[in-house]
Amino acid sequence: MDMLNDPALKAFQNEVRAFLDANLTDTLRAAAARATSVFIDPAVTLPWQRILNAHGWAAPDWPAEFGGPGWDEIQRYIFAAECARAGAPGLAPMGLKMVAPVIMHYGTPDQRAHYLPRILSGEDYWCQGFSEPGAGSDLASLQLRATPDCADYILNGSKIWTTHAHFANRMFALVRTSTEGKAQAGISFLLLDMATPGISVEPIRTLAGDHEFNQVFFDDVRVPQANRLGAENEGWSVAKHLLTFERGGKYAPGLIGRLERLRARADLDPVMRARADREAIGLQALQALELKAMRGVGGSTALYASALKIMGTEAAQRIDVLACDVGGPAAWADADGQMPADLAVAVPRYLNDRAASIYAGSNEIQRDLIARIVLD
Ligand SMILES: Cc1cc2nc3c(=O)[nH]c(=O)nc-3n(C[C@H](O)[C@H](O)[C@H](O)COP(=O)(O)OP(=O)(O)OC[C@H]3O[C@@H](n4cnc5c(N)ncnc54)[C@H](O)[C@@H]3O)c2cc1C
Repeated sequence: MDMLNDPALKAFQNEVRAFLDANLTDTLRAAAARATSVFIDPAVTLPWQRILNAHGWAAPDWPAEFGGPGWDEIQRYIFAAECARAGAPGLAPMGLKMVAPVIMHYGTPDQRAHYLPRILSGEDYWCQGFSEPGAGSDLASLQLRATPDCADYILNGSKIWTTHAHFANRMFALVRTSTEGKAQAGISFLLLDMATPGISVEPIRTLAGDHEFNQVFFDDVRVPQANRLGAENEGWSVAKHLLTFERGGKYAPGLIGRLERLRARADLDPVMRARADREAIGLQALQALELKAMRGVGGSTALYASALKIMGTEAAQRIDVLACDVGGPAAWADADGQMPADLAVAVPRYLNDRAASIYAGSNEIQRDLIARIVLD
Protein backbone atom coordinates (compact mmCIF):
# COMPACT_ATOMS: atom_id res chain seq x y z
CA MET A 1 0.00 0.00 0.00
CA ASP A 2 1.85 3.05 -1.31
CA MET A 3 0.02 5.39 1.04
CA LEU A 4 2.16 3.97 3.85
CA ASN A 5 4.98 6.18 2.59
CA ASP A 6 3.07 8.84 4.50
CA PRO A 7 4.81 9.06 7.93
CA ALA A 8 1.57 9.75 9.80
CA LEU A 9 -0.07 6.63 8.36
CA LYS A 10 3.07 4.58 9.03
CA ALA A 11 2.93 5.73 12.66
CA PHE A 12 -0.74 4.76 12.80
CA GLN A 13 0.09 1.33 11.38
CA ASN A 14 2.77 0.87 14.05
CA GLU A 15 0.32 1.88 16.77
CA VAL A 16 -2.18 -0.73 15.54
CA ARG A 17 0.56 -3.40 15.33
CA ALA A 18 1.69 -2.66 18.87
CA PHE A 19 -1.89 -2.89 20.12
CA LEU A 20 -2.43 -6.23 18.36
CA ASP A 21 0.86 -7.62 19.68
CA ALA A 22 -0.14 -6.68 23.20
CA ASN A 23 -3.81 -7.69 23.14
CA LEU A 24 -4.47 -10.42 20.59
CA THR A 25 -3.89 -13.55 22.63
CA ASP A 26 -2.63 -16.84 21.19
CA THR A 27 -5.96 -18.40 22.20
CA LEU A 28 -7.90 -15.87 20.13
CA ARG A 29 -5.54 -16.26 17.16
CA ALA A 30 -5.80 -20.05 17.28
CA ALA A 31 -9.61 -19.96 17.52
CA ALA A 32 -9.78 -17.57 14.53
CA ALA A 33 -7.44 -19.77 12.49
CA ARG A 34 -9.66 -22.80 13.14
CA ALA A 35 -12.87 -20.97 12.18
CA THR A 36 -14.60 -22.54 9.19
CA SER A 37 -16.95 -19.64 8.45
CA VAL A 38 -16.89 -15.85 8.20
CA PHE A 39 -19.58 -16.00 10.91
CA ILE A 40 -17.32 -16.95 13.81
CA ASP A 41 -18.90 -18.20 17.03
CA PRO A 42 -19.60 -15.34 19.51
CA ALA A 43 -17.70 -17.28 22.20
CA VAL A 44 -14.62 -16.25 20.16
CA THR A 45 -15.66 -12.88 18.76
CA LEU A 46 -17.27 -11.26 21.81
CA PRO A 47 -14.19 -11.46 24.08
CA TRP A 48 -12.17 -9.83 21.26
CA GLN A 49 -14.90 -7.20 20.74
CA ARG A 50 -14.75 -6.33 24.46
CA ILE A 51 -10.97 -5.87 24.29
CA LEU A 52 -11.33 -3.63 21.23
CA ASN A 53 -14.19 -1.70 22.81
CA ALA A 54 -12.18 -0.99 25.97
CA HIS A 55 -9.69 0.69 23.63
CA GLY A 56 -12.40 2.53 21.62
CA TRP A 57 -11.71 0.42 18.52
CA ALA A 58 -14.69 -1.98 18.30
CA ALA A 59 -16.41 0.00 15.52
CA PRO A 60 -13.79 1.52 13.20
CA ASP A 61 -16.47 2.65 10.70
CA TRP A 62 -18.65 4.51 13.21
CA PRO A 63 -18.51 8.29 13.47
CA ALA A 64 -16.91 9.55 16.68
CA GLU A 65 -20.22 11.03 17.92
CA PHE A 66 -21.61 7.49 18.28
CA GLY A 67 -18.50 5.95 19.83
CA GLY A 68 -16.29 5.27 16.79
CA PRO A 69 -12.58 6.17 16.86
CA GLY A 70 -13.03 8.99 14.31
CA TRP A 71 -10.60 7.48 11.78
CA ASP A 72 -10.62 8.41 8.11
CA GLU A 73 -11.21 5.74 5.47
CA ILE A 74 -7.51 4.99 4.95
CA GLN A 75 -6.95 4.45 8.67
CA ARG A 76 -9.94 2.11 8.72
CA TYR A 77 -8.48 0.16 5.85
CA ILE A 78 -5.07 -0.09 7.51
CA PHE A 79 -6.75 -1.29 10.72
CA ALA A 80 -8.66 -4.01 8.82
CA ALA A 81 -5.48 -5.06 6.99
CA GLU A 82 -3.43 -5.26 10.21
CA CYS A 83 -6.12 -7.25 12.04
CA ALA A 84 -6.21 -9.73 9.15
CA ARG A 85 -2.42 -9.95 8.99
CA ALA A 86 -2.29 -10.67 12.73
CA GLY A 87 -5.02 -13.35 12.43
CA ALA A 88 -7.63 -11.57 14.60
CA PRO A 89 -11.18 -12.99 14.54
CA GLY A 90 -13.60 -10.99 12.40
CA LEU A 91 -16.45 -9.55 14.49
CA ALA A 92 -20.07 -10.41 13.71
CA PRO A 93 -21.30 -7.87 11.13
CA MET A 94 -25.05 -7.96 11.88
CA GLY A 95 -24.91 -5.45 14.75
CA LEU A 96 -21.78 -3.34 14.22
CA LYS A 97 -21.83 -3.10 10.43
CA MET A 98 -25.41 -3.69 9.35
CA VAL A 99 -28.09 -2.51 11.78
CA ALA A 100 -25.96 0.17 13.50
CA PRO A 101 -25.58 2.43 10.41
CA VAL A 102 -29.34 2.34 9.77
CA ILE A 103 -30.11 3.08 13.42
CA MET A 104 -27.77 6.08 13.11
CA HIS A 105 -29.51 7.20 9.90
CA TYR A 106 -33.19 6.39 10.56
CA GLY A 107 -33.38 5.94 14.35
CA THR A 108 -35.07 8.30 16.79
CA PRO A 109 -32.80 9.86 19.45
CA ASP A 110 -34.19 7.31 21.95
CA GLN A 111 -33.47 4.37 19.62
CA ARG A 112 -29.91 5.58 19.00
CA ALA A 113 -29.26 6.13 22.71
CA HIS A 114 -30.66 2.71 23.62
CA TYR A 115 -29.23 0.43 20.94
CA LEU A 116 -25.88 1.83 19.80
CA PRO A 117 -23.96 1.53 23.11
CA ARG A 118 -25.31 -2.02 23.55
CA ILE A 119 -24.08 -2.97 20.07
CA LEU A 120 -20.62 -1.55 20.81
CA SER A 121 -20.28 -3.38 24.11
CA GLY A 122 -21.61 -6.67 22.70
CA GLU A 123 -24.47 -6.69 25.22
CA ASP A 124 -26.83 -7.02 22.25
CA TYR A 125 -26.06 -9.65 19.62
CA TRP A 126 -28.12 -9.23 16.45
CA CYS A 127 -29.44 -11.45 13.69
CA GLN A 128 -30.96 -10.46 10.35
CA GLY A 129 -34.58 -11.47 9.59
CA PHE A 130 -34.99 -10.68 5.90
CA SER A 131 -35.30 -13.96 3.93
CA GLU A 132 -38.39 -16.16 4.09
CA PRO A 133 -39.12 -19.59 2.60
CA GLY A 134 -40.76 -17.88 -0.41
CA ALA A 135 -38.68 -14.69 -0.46
CA GLY A 136 -34.93 -14.73 -1.08
CA SER A 137 -33.69 -12.96 -4.20
CA ASP A 138 -37.23 -11.66 -4.64
CA LEU A 139 -37.15 -10.20 -1.14
CA ALA A 140 -40.06 -7.80 -1.72
CA SER A 141 -42.45 -10.76 -1.88
CA LEU A 142 -41.97 -11.38 1.87
CA GLN A 143 -45.13 -12.34 3.76
CA LEU A 144 -44.40 -12.24 7.53
CA ARG A 145 -47.47 -10.32 8.60
CA ALA A 146 -47.40 -7.50 11.18
CA THR A 147 -50.98 -6.56 12.09
CA PRO A 148 -51.45 -3.32 14.09
CA ASP A 149 -53.12 -3.83 17.49
CA CYS A 150 -53.27 -0.74 19.78
CA ALA A 151 -49.64 0.38 20.27
CA ASP A 152 -48.23 -2.97 19.06
CA TYR A 153 -47.94 -5.15 15.99
CA ILE A 154 -48.85 -8.85 16.11
CA LEU A 155 -46.41 -10.89 14.00
CA ASN A 156 -47.17 -14.21 12.29
CA GLY A 157 -45.02 -16.09 9.78
CA SER A 158 -41.41 -17.22 9.53
CA LYS A 159 -37.88 -16.16 8.57
CA ILE A 160 -35.27 -18.54 7.19
CA TRP A 161 -31.47 -18.84 6.84
CA THR A 162 -31.21 -16.60 9.90
CA THR A 163 -27.50 -16.66 10.75
CA HIS A 164 -26.73 -16.94 14.49
CA ALA A 165 -30.41 -16.53 15.53
CA HIS A 166 -29.62 -19.20 18.16
CA PHE A 167 -27.08 -16.81 19.74
CA ALA A 168 -28.86 -13.51 19.15
CA ASN A 169 -30.95 -11.60 21.68
CA ARG A 170 -32.06 -9.10 18.99
CA MET A 171 -33.30 -9.34 15.42
CA PHE A 172 -33.83 -6.66 12.80
CA ALA A 173 -36.63 -7.79 10.54
CA LEU A 174 -38.60 -6.82 7.46
CA VAL A 175 -42.33 -7.40 7.96
CA ARG A 176 -45.44 -6.86 5.84
CA THR A 177 -47.64 -4.08 7.17
CA SER A 178 -49.70 -3.57 4.01
CA THR A 179 -50.74 -5.56 0.94
CA GLU A 180 -51.84 -2.44 -0.96
CA GLY A 181 -49.90 -1.18 -4.01
CA LYS A 182 -46.41 -2.35 -4.99
CA ALA A 183 -44.91 -5.16 -2.88
CA GLN A 184 -42.03 -2.88 -1.77
CA ALA A 185 -44.50 -0.25 -0.52
CA GLY A 186 -46.05 -2.40 2.24
CA ILE A 187 -42.90 -3.37 4.18
CA SER A 188 -41.75 -2.04 7.57
CA PHE A 189 -38.45 -2.47 9.43
CA LEU A 190 -38.69 -3.69 13.06
CA LEU A 191 -36.20 -4.15 15.90
CA LEU A 192 -37.17 -7.25 17.92
CA ASP A 193 -36.29 -8.81 21.26
CA MET A 194 -35.68 -12.52 20.58
CA ALA A 195 -37.01 -13.38 24.06
CA THR A 196 -40.51 -12.16 23.11
CA PRO A 197 -43.12 -14.93 23.67
CA GLY A 198 -44.12 -16.68 20.41
CA ILE A 199 -40.64 -16.65 18.77
CA SER A 200 -39.05 -20.06 18.25
CA VAL A 201 -35.72 -20.89 16.61
CA GLU A 202 -35.18 -24.17 14.73
CA PRO A 203 -31.63 -25.12 13.60
CA ILE A 204 -30.69 -25.81 9.95
CA ARG A 205 -27.42 -27.69 9.32
CA THR A 206 -25.12 -26.45 6.55
CA LEU A 207 -23.36 -28.52 3.88
CA ALA A 208 -20.24 -28.42 6.10
CA GLY A 209 -22.25 -29.85 9.04
CA ASP A 210 -22.20 -26.62 11.07
CA HIS A 211 -25.13 -25.13 12.94
CA GLU A 212 -24.81 -21.60 11.68
CA PHE A 213 -28.27 -20.60 10.53
CA ASN A 214 -31.88 -21.28 11.44
CA GLN A 215 -35.55 -20.97 10.63
CA VAL A 216 -37.33 -18.61 13.03
CA PHE A 217 -41.08 -18.94 13.61
CA PHE A 218 -43.40 -16.15 14.79
CA ASP A 219 -46.67 -17.14 16.40
CA ASP A 220 -48.73 -14.13 17.58
CA VAL A 221 -45.60 -12.24 18.59
CA ARG A 222 -46.41 -8.84 20.10
CA VAL A 223 -43.92 -6.08 19.22
CA PRO A 224 -44.33 -2.40 20.22
CA GLN A 225 -44.78 -0.10 17.22
CA ALA A 226 -42.15 2.07 18.90
CA ASN A 227 -39.64 -0.62 17.82
CA ARG A 228 -40.17 0.32 14.17
CA LEU A 229 -37.20 1.96 12.44
CA GLY A 230 -38.39 4.60 9.98
CA ALA A 231 -41.98 5.18 8.92
CA GLU A 232 -44.60 2.47 8.53
CA ASN A 233 -44.52 0.91 5.04
CA GLU A 234 -41.17 2.55 4.27
CA GLY A 235 -38.95 -0.28 5.47
CA TRP A 236 -37.76 -1.03 1.93
CA SER A 237 -35.72 2.20 1.89
CA VAL A 238 -34.16 1.26 5.25
CA ALA A 239 -33.33 -2.22 3.92
CA LYS A 240 -31.71 -0.85 0.73
CA HIS A 241 -29.57 1.48 2.84
CA LEU A 242 -28.53 -1.46 5.04
CA LEU A 243 -27.69 -3.75 2.11
CA THR A 244 -25.01 -1.38 0.80
CA PHE A 245 -23.22 -1.88 4.16
CA GLU A 246 -23.76 -5.67 4.08
CA ARG A 247 -22.28 -5.98 0.58
CA GLY A 248 -19.71 -3.23 0.49
CA GLY A 249 -17.26 -4.84 2.91
CA LYS A 250 -13.49 -4.96 2.84
CA TYR A 251 -12.74 -8.36 1.33
CA ALA A 252 -9.10 -7.92 0.31
CA PRO A 253 -7.40 -7.55 3.74
CA GLY A 254 -8.68 -10.89 5.10
CA LEU A 255 -7.98 -12.72 1.84
CA ILE A 256 -4.48 -11.26 1.55
CA GLY A 257 -3.77 -12.42 5.13
CA ARG A 258 -4.98 -15.93 4.29
CA LEU A 259 -3.09 -16.12 1.02
CA GLU A 260 0.14 -14.82 2.56
CA ARG A 261 0.03 -17.61 5.14
CA LEU A 262 -0.30 -20.13 2.28
CA ARG A 263 2.48 -18.51 0.22
CA ALA A 264 4.79 -18.50 3.23
CA ARG A 265 4.87 -22.31 3.22
CA ALA A 266 8.40 -23.42 2.28
CA ASP A 267 7.14 -26.71 0.83
CA LEU A 268 4.76 -25.11 -1.70
CA ASP A 269 4.91 -26.97 -5.01
CA PRO A 270 5.84 -24.67 -7.98
CA VAL A 271 2.46 -25.16 -9.67
CA MET A 272 0.63 -24.20 -6.47
CA ARG A 273 3.00 -21.28 -5.97
CA ALA A 274 2.18 -20.00 -9.48
CA ARG A 275 -1.55 -20.22 -8.70
CA ALA A 276 -1.03 -18.45 -5.37
CA ASP A 277 0.98 -15.71 -7.08
CA ARG A 278 -1.81 -15.21 -9.63
CA GLU A 279 -4.36 -14.87 -6.81
CA ALA A 280 -2.06 -12.41 -5.02
CA ILE A 281 -2.04 -10.17 -8.11
CA GLY A 282 -5.84 -10.39 -8.30
CA LEU A 283 -6.09 -9.38 -4.64
CA GLN A 284 -3.91 -6.33 -5.26
CA ALA A 285 -6.41 -5.29 -7.95
CA LEU A 286 -9.31 -5.94 -5.56
CA GLN A 287 -7.60 -3.89 -2.87
CA ALA A 288 -7.06 -1.00 -5.30
CA LEU A 289 -10.77 -1.08 -6.17
CA GLU A 290 -11.79 -1.18 -2.49
CA LEU A 291 -9.65 1.90 -1.82
CA LYS A 292 -11.23 3.70 -4.79
CA ALA A 293 -14.68 2.75 -3.48
CA MET A 294 -13.84 4.10 -0.02
CA ARG A 295 -12.75 7.40 -1.53
CA GLY A 296 -15.94 7.49 -3.64
CA VAL A 297 -13.92 7.72 -6.87
CA GLY A 298 -15.38 6.54 -10.18
CA GLY A 299 -18.74 5.01 -9.27
CA SER A 300 -21.76 5.00 -6.98
CA THR A 301 -21.81 3.27 -3.59
CA ALA A 302 -24.34 0.75 -4.90
CA LEU A 303 -22.22 -0.05 -7.97
CA TYR A 304 -19.11 -0.65 -5.88
CA ALA A 305 -21.05 -2.66 -3.28
CA SER A 306 -22.26 -5.11 -5.94
CA ALA A 307 -18.94 -5.28 -7.83
CA LEU A 308 -16.85 -5.83 -4.69
CA LYS A 309 -19.28 -8.46 -3.40
CA ILE A 310 -18.86 -10.48 -6.62
CA MET A 311 -15.07 -10.05 -6.81
CA GLY A 312 -14.45 -10.67 -3.09
CA THR A 313 -16.58 -13.80 -2.79
CA GLU A 314 -15.27 -15.33 -6.03
CA ALA A 315 -11.66 -14.71 -4.93
CA ALA A 316 -12.45 -16.33 -1.55
CA GLN A 317 -13.83 -19.41 -3.30
CA ARG A 318 -10.73 -19.71 -5.55
CA ILE A 319 -8.44 -19.44 -2.52
CA ASP A 320 -10.51 -22.13 -0.77
CA VAL A 321 -9.91 -24.47 -3.71
CA LEU A 322 -6.20 -23.63 -3.67
CA ALA A 323 -5.99 -24.37 0.08
CA CYS A 324 -7.67 -27.76 -0.48
CA ASP A 325 -5.25 -28.55 -3.31
CA VAL A 326 -2.23 -27.49 -1.23
CA GLY A 327 -3.44 -29.58 1.72
CA GLY A 328 -4.07 -32.57 -0.54
CA PRO A 329 -5.79 -35.71 0.75
CA ALA A 330 -4.56 -35.02 4.30
CA ALA A 331 -6.71 -31.86 4.43
CA TRP A 332 -9.80 -34.10 4.14
CA ALA A 333 -9.02 -35.93 7.35
CA ASP A 334 -6.63 -34.24 9.72
CA ALA A 335 -6.85 -37.28 11.95
CA ASP A 336 -3.72 -36.63 14.02
CA GLY A 337 -4.29 -32.85 14.28
CA GLN A 338 -0.86 -32.18 12.77
CA MET A 339 -1.93 -29.95 9.85
CA PRO A 340 -1.42 -26.19 10.22
CA ALA A 341 -4.77 -24.61 11.08
CA ASP A 342 -5.31 -22.99 7.66
CA LEU A 343 -5.06 -26.36 5.93
CA ALA A 344 -6.78 -28.42 8.62
CA VAL A 345 -9.97 -26.42 8.04
CA ALA A 346 -9.50 -26.09 4.27
CA VAL A 347 -12.29 -28.50 3.38
CA PRO A 348 -15.02 -27.28 5.79
CA ARG A 349 -14.08 -23.71 4.86
CA TYR A 350 -14.38 -24.58 1.16
CA LEU A 351 -17.81 -26.11 1.79
CA ASN A 352 -18.91 -23.18 3.96
CA ASP A 353 -17.76 -20.58 1.45
CA ARG A 354 -19.94 -22.06 -1.30
CA ALA A 355 -22.60 -19.93 0.41
CA ALA A 356 -20.66 -16.69 0.00
CA SER A 357 -21.90 -16.18 -3.56
CA ILE A 358 -25.49 -16.71 -2.32
CA TYR A 359 -25.84 -14.72 0.91
CA ALA A 360 -26.07 -10.93 1.03
CA GLY A 361 -27.89 -11.20 -2.32
CA SER A 362 -26.66 -13.84 -4.78
CA ASN A 363 -23.93 -12.91 -7.25
CA GLU A 364 -26.38 -13.33 -10.16
CA ILE A 365 -28.56 -10.66 -8.54
CA GLN A 366 -25.49 -8.41 -8.07
CA ARG A 367 -24.79 -8.75 -11.82
CA ASP A 368 -28.40 -7.77 -12.56
CA LEU A 369 -28.02 -4.71 -10.29
CA ILE A 370 -24.76 -3.66 -11.98
CA ALA A 371 -26.38 -3.99 -15.41
CA ARG A 372 -29.31 -1.83 -14.31
CA ILE A 373 -27.07 0.85 -12.78
CA VAL A 374 -24.78 0.97 -15.83
CA LEU A 375 -27.64 0.96 -18.36
CA ASP A 376 -29.72 3.59 -16.50
C1 LIG B 1 -24.92 -19.09 4.62
C2 LIG B 1 -26.10 -18.20 4.42
C3 LIG B 1 -26.42 -17.29 5.40
C4 LIG B 1 -27.55 -16.48 5.25
N1 LIG B 1 -27.88 -15.64 6.27
C5 LIG B 1 -29.02 -14.92 6.18
C6 LIG B 1 -29.44 -14.12 7.28
O1 LIG B 1 -28.78 -14.05 8.32
N2 LIG B 1 -30.60 -13.45 7.15
C7 LIG B 1 -31.36 -13.48 6.02
O2 LIG B 1 -32.38 -12.80 5.98
N3 LIG B 1 -31.00 -14.25 4.97
C8 LIG B 1 -29.85 -14.97 5.03
N4 LIG B 1 -29.46 -15.77 3.97
C9 LIG B 1 -30.36 -15.88 2.82
C10 LIG B 1 -29.84 -15.26 1.55
O3 LIG B 1 -29.97 -13.86 1.57
C11 LIG B 1 -30.63 -15.91 0.38
O4 LIG B 1 -30.24 -17.26 0.33
C12 LIG B 1 -30.36 -15.23 -0.93
O5 LIG B 1 -30.93 -13.96 -0.97
C13 LIG B 1 -30.92 -16.06 -2.12
O6 LIG B 1 -32.25 -16.37 -1.90
P1 LIG B 1 -32.78 -17.90 -2.01
O7 LIG B 1 -31.88 -18.77 -1.19
O8 LIG B 1 -34.25 -17.91 -1.70
O9 LIG B 1 -32.55 -18.31 -3.52
P2 LIG B 1 -33.46 -17.92 -4.76
O10 LIG B 1 -33.84 -16.50 -4.69
O11 LIG B 1 -34.56 -18.92 -4.89
O12 LIG B 1 -32.43 -18.10 -5.96
C14 LIG B 1 -32.08 -19.38 -6.49
C15 LIG B 1 -31.09 -19.17 -7.63
O13 LIG B 1 -31.72 -18.41 -8.69
C16 LIG B 1 -30.95 -17.24 -8.99
N5 LIG B 1 -31.85 -16.12 -9.29
C17 LIG B 1 -32.96 -15.76 -8.60
N6 LIG B 1 -33.52 -14.66 -9.15
C18 LIG B 1 -32.73 -14.30 -10.19
C19 LIG B 1 -32.76 -13.23 -11.15
N7 LIG B 1 -33.69 -12.29 -11.13
N8 LIG B 1 -31.76 -13.18 -12.08
C20 LIG B 1 -30.77 -14.11 -12.11
N9 LIG B 1 -30.70 -15.16 -11.23
C21 LIG B 1 -31.65 -15.24 -10.29
C22 LIG B 1 -30.15 -16.94 -7.73
O14 LIG B 1 -28.98 -16.25 -8.05
C23 LIG B 1 -29.85 -18.35 -7.23
O15 LIG B 1 -28.73 -18.88 -7.91
C24 LIG B 1 -28.34 -16.56 4.08
C25 LIG B 1 -28.00 -17.47 3.07
C26 LIG B 1 -26.90 -18.29 3.23
C27 LIG B 1 -26.57 -19.27 2.14
